[in-house]
Amino acid sequence: MASMFGTDGIRGIVNDTMTPVFALRLGKAAGKVLGGKVAIATDTRSSADMIRSAVSAGLLASGCSVLDLGILPVPALQHYVKVRADLSGGIMVTASHNPPEFNGIKCISSDGTEASRDDERRIEEAFSGMLDDVGWLSAGDIEKVEDAEDEYVDAVVSSVDADAIRSAGLTVCADCANGASYSAVPAVLGKLGVRTVAVNCYPSDGPSKNGPAELKALMAAASADFGVTFDEDADRCFFTAPDGRDVSGDAALAIIARSVLSDGPGKVFTPVSTSSMVEDVVSAAGGVVIRTPVGAPAVARMMMESDSVLGGEESGGLIFPRHQYCRDGAMAMAAMLECVAKRGSLSDQLDSLPAYHSVKTKVACPEDKRDDLYKRMLEKASECRVDRTDGLKLLFDDGWVLLRASGTEPSFRIFSESKDAAKAESRAAEYVSMAEEFLGGDLGS
Ligand code: MG
Repeated sequence: MASMFGTDGIRGIVNDTMTPVFALRLGKAAGKVLGGKVAIATDTRSSADMIRSAVSAGLLASGCSVLDLGILPVPALQHYVKVRADLSGGIMVTASHNPPEFNGIKCISSDGTEASRDDERRIEEAFSGMLDDVGWLSAGDIEKVEDAEDEYVDAVVSSVDADAIRSAGLTVCADCANGASYSAVPAVLGKLGVRTVAVNCYPSDGPSKNGPAELKALMAAASADFGVTFDEDADRCFFTAPDGRDVSGDAALAIIARSVLSDGPGKVFTPVSTSSMVEDVVSAAGGVVIRTPVGAPAVARMMMESDSVLGGEESGGLIFPRHQYCRDGAMAMAAMLECVAKRGSLSDQLDSLPAYHSVKTKVACPEDKRDDLYKRMLEKASECRVDRTDGLKLLFDDGWVLLRASGTEPSFRIFSESKDAAKAESRAAEYVSMAEEFLGGDLGS
């Protein structure tokens, strides 16, 4: 059977592939695998009630009991599950950044981390097998929980130097994209004494009224110390510097890593695709970067097997191991508040980063040609170091190239980075034409 779970749970168009019947059966399958007591939460989509009810009914029919936490950021659900020994897991009803006609289901393990591929496979197997309902007397019940958000807000606030943030008198424009963080994020800011301009902070799955241009105008009007924008399920966030520049995920990771490492040396985990800027900053601050395969679950799992002080990926997800082993948008915002309170303007911190240029491109490549393509590229690789953590990364004295098969489409992604923009461009072009030559020649025939 083809995998139901993608890189970030199961997603589909509501009442097309993501139907109540599907969600009910998935709830039964998850209930059979997890057993016991399961927490459930949703984002703000209009289909949230329908899908949550169907998943919950499936869980109950399998004999599980359900804690309904309401609308919550996915890291808040994860934290709730993590700190309770009597919970066997969690289910988040969300399609993150997908358009409003989509919804999705994401499974959380009993330790609060995103379900591993093995757990997902067990749920898939249960889904396609026999799913008997329990006897009438054994059907579970639902308990509503009203204070899960307060608990999460307190956990985030207690993970940073709240006094330093309060006494800095900061102003922040926060855009919650009308998503799951619409209430938790303003609450965190309030508890940290931050003057807040709340943008798109009401629950809705319609188009947000205010876009990036409005956020920047509001930031200028409020003399904000930074802007922060969350994705719908609030595991990721993006920063805007007070001068209006967008802060890349790599830059945010580097800036927060430098701040975290000021407390002492440690390891920072990030995928092979992240900019070398992070290495430069981390080693200058006395830390060391450990490279991981691409994807937040891979970063989190490697962090759990080691000592770490921070993890992160270029797509705006940061992992704070002392808080929990998953991406957490509100926690990233709180860490940035502490960083600005203690180290000064985000614009100045951005200016202090080494400049790298990166090119991200791809070539179409059928799945059955991928291994050959890796092999041919490796044969061509001389006078460089090779990293096979994920795909094929070739490290030169003046930059690197990463060649990686896409997880979502039949293509090969080619990333090139160098301090020299022309070099990054020419090297990307060189590897694209090399790949096309291989694929068009005997490989493609
Ligand atoms: Mg997300």
